[in-house]
Amino acid sequence: MNFKELFASLFSYATEDLGIDLGTANTLVYAEGRGIVLREPSVVAVDSETGTDLAVGEEAQRMLGRTPASITAIRPLRDGVIADYDLTQAMLRYFISKASSKRFAFRRVVVGIPSGVTEVERLAVIEACRKAGAGQAFVIEEPMAAAIGSGLPVSEPTGSLIVDIGGGTTEVAIISLAGIVAARSIRVAGDELDEAVANYVRRAFNLYIGERSAEKAKIEVGAAYPLETELTTEVRGRDLVTGLPRSCVISSEDVRVAIQDQLAAIVEAVKLTLETSPPELSADIIHRGIFLAGGGALLRGLDRLISDETGIPVLIANDPLGCVVLGAGRVLAAIRENPQLRKVLVKSN
Ligand code: ADP
Ligand code: MG
Repeated sequence: MNFKELFASLFSYATEDLGIDLGTANTLVYAEGRGIVLREPSVVAVDSETGTDLAVGEEAQRMLGRTPASITAIRPLRDGVIADYDLTQAMLRYFISKASSKRFAFRRVVVGIPSGVTEVERLAVIEACRKAGAGQAFVIEEPMAAAIGSGLPVSEPTGSLIVDIGGGTTEVAIISLAGIVAARSIRVAGDELDEAVANYVRRAFNLYIGERSAEKAKIEVGAAYPLETELTTEVRGRDLVTGLPRSCVISSEDVRVAIQDQLAAIVEAVKLTLETSPPELSADIIHRGIFLAGGGALLRGLDRLISDETGIPVLIANDPLGCVVLGAGRVLAAIRENPQLRKVLVKSN
């Protein structure tokens, strides 16, 4: 063993590999050998008077919508891009240090980023990871990570179509031979659905509800397709006429009507991506089906709606909320076994 090899083996012994899903709604961290070690909302609470960060993640989430005027809870990635670089970095530093095992001296991280991000944003993520304590940082496009995490045969010459519906963006991508052949990213995803529910309740019931209540209603009774047995839930808010607190009962059908335009936009993005697909890959996709990932994949009946609209079978990933981080976390180990996969890493430092 020469010096270089000795150094490399010592380095790998002292290094922990972390996969990070830096989502607009949730950040997850996967550690080789320990599994998913962190799942927290991508939120930072800031005191706007002093400009200091007060809390990150779950603790900050609890402050959302309940803060005194001087404290704001910010989602630094809200629309799928890094809206606030300093806060993203502070958040990453907190999550990396919270998730890291103290047994290792160095950390090497792979971060999933939306496929639409610019070169500048990509470098900003890498820079943020390094400043947050990572010795080495790589990025991988989220749809690729989701496909690897769902166990799709990404390095084979067969087409896979993955639709990742997160908080801020929906990413549609066709993958073959460890590359993204066609992709589309739209800013219509979970957050827009919540907003549509809140708007509907305001119009139909004269009730003003916050985004967290709207999200809760969407998750509890929301459906993309008429349900056999209707579900209902109570939402609380402020009466627009009297200004007083009031509640009302809304049904799955209410939510379905409220979000139909947003769902149509998601279906349209899938169709447009299919239209740009090379014919051989389309044939693979018709045969193998469309895979849904991200929190939005859990909306009742969304698989059926997309299947009806495209005529292609639709499957939901095993762990829709975890597949991106699983893919990111496993990628370094996977590359050791299958060097062809190396090209899934978009950019390293
Ligand atoms: P991101 O990758 O952008 O962080 P996630 O994949 O974590 O986003 O998904 C978060 C989104 O999924 C949120 O908008 C949330 O409301 C939505 N979501 C989570 N669970 C459900 C559910 N059961 N039904 C519908 N939407 C859901
Ligand atoms: Mg995501």
